[in-house]
Amino acid sequence: MASCDLAVIGAGPAGMAAATLAAEHGLDVVVYDENPAPGGQIYRAIETVSLARNSDLAFLGESYRAGAALARAFRASPARFMPGTTVWLVQKDRAIGILRDGKAAMVQANRIIIATGALERPVPVPGWTLPGVMTVGAAQGLLKSAAMAPSSPVVLAGKGPLLFQLAAQYVAAGVAIAAILETGARPIAALPHVWPAWRSGTIGKGLALLRAIRQGGVNIIRNVVALEAEGRGRLEAVAYRTVRGTGRIATPLLLLHEGVIANAQLTKAIPLAHEWNERQQCWQPMLDADGNSDVEGIAVAGDAGGIGGAEAAAHSGRLVALAALKALGKIGRIAHEALAETERTAWQRHLAARPFLDALYPPPDASAQLADGTLVCRCEEVTAGQIREAVSLGCAGPNQAKSFTRAGMGPCQGRMCGLTVAALIARETGQSMSEVGHYRIRPPIKPLTVGELAALE
Ligand SMILES: Cc1cc2nc3c(=O)[nH]c(=O)nc-3n(C[C@H](O)[C@H](O)[C@H](O)COP(=O)(O)OP(=O)(O)OC[C@H]3O[C@@H](n4cnc5c(N)ncnc54)[C@H](O)[C@@H]3O)c2cc1C
Repeated sequence: MASCDLAVIGAGPAGMAAATLAAEHGLDVVVYDENPAPGGQIYRAIETVSLARNSDLAFLGESYRAGAALARAFRASPARFMPGTTVWLVQKDRAIGILRDGKAAMVQANRIIIATGALERPVPVPGWTLPGVMTVGAAQGLLKSAAMAPSSPVVLAGKGPLLFQLAAQYVAAGVAIAAILETGARPIAALPHVWPAWRSGTIGKGLALLRAIRQGGVNIIRNVVALEAEGRGRLEAVAYRTVRGTGRIATPLLLLHEGVIANAQLTKAIPLAHEWNERQQCWQPMLDADGNSDVEGIAVAGDAGGIGGAEAAAHSGRLVALAALKALGKIGRIAHEALAETERTAWQRHLAARPFLDALYPPPDASAQLADGTLVCRCEEVTAGQIREAVSLGCAGPNQAKSFTRAGMGPCQGRMCGLTVAALIARETGQSMSEVGHYRIRPPIKPLTVGELAALE
């Protein structure tokens, strides 16, 4: 079995920063990412865009440009990068199952840093499985990696920084936006957190995005309380309701977004100990101040450990790498303390804006309004009504819901429906989300064929 000092899973800002630092200090570092190039979500395709067509950086914005330096330093470091490699298993003894070029293999690492980032929060609405309905993140991925943008006026619906960022990028790229349907009201609860967010520069960035969107003449419809994607066979229109009335916009493309959550599939499959984050309404691994989990030698960096944004992710990656360097004897305790203090201070500075953003864009309570006929598990085609019915028959939690309905048993392993199914059960049984719990995630966390598995020694 191949081996290494440190395996880093994910080459976003957290993984790139961690691997660069650890490899520069002499560790044998291997980095796995299922994408073909480093960058992660925010800096997707940063090398191709920044090297080949420098002018394209203009419409993707300043925060995207920042990733080029991180990727250059990562490529210049001695870290070994394995792109196009999916990690489907991590064991507590730090054996890692990878899939590359159609072949599965096992690797033994002395230490592991999990930097698998975030997922967009899946929030079902009626008609969300129609062709023509996508997420904002998926559309932004196409814009960054293939310069693909919609040719007809598009509707963006939901809330959060990423939604407004894509809208500003579309305006700069000359893409027509039929409307932005902003869900929910701007809560007063965000007010006490304004000052730290202002000092961190987050509010300034947000206002600049809104200004750019307004200058592009985009119609922003606020306080949307219900949405429905309509169409026969594919999306034809978006119907919405606000506190003032109803409306309908004809469009072939609807982009949904309700914020991001920690990608806990791998950390839950190991399993590491997790806790429910009430503010961000998602599960996240329980970590110490250096990013170490409850399993010896396995640490978590970046958004996979809790949503903090790209800059925070890079600092958290370096912080976790420093802990690995200390544990493997590459730096002493005093050097570690000094370097870690600098990273921790910078990390905390970037995290300071989070309470404001979390309070400003709270996730919708999907379980409250979800109509019985709306699909919640897309893989197994299970509706909200079937989950409610299972609860009325005695189903007590998400794992039992698998047996009752097959929800969560498809190829996405509950990534898309996990939180919604738990929220429905919580509402029907009067329990809290942490009491209801989450699906037990089992490896392989990504689909593998028998042929791919057969390549294992
Ligand atoms: C769709 C999407 C788009 C986003 N776009 C922006 C944006 O434009 N601007 C912004 O400020 N923030 C954006 N965010 C938030 C942003 O992801 C983070 O703040 C930041 O990128 C976090 O960095 P990270 O290194 O923790 O994770 P990421 O950048 O998400 O990197 C994680 C990496 O891990 C890899 N990975 C995950 N699972 C596996 C596996 N099992 N095997 C192998 N590789 C794996 C992924 O391919 C990815 O490259 C986005 C989030 C999402 C979900």
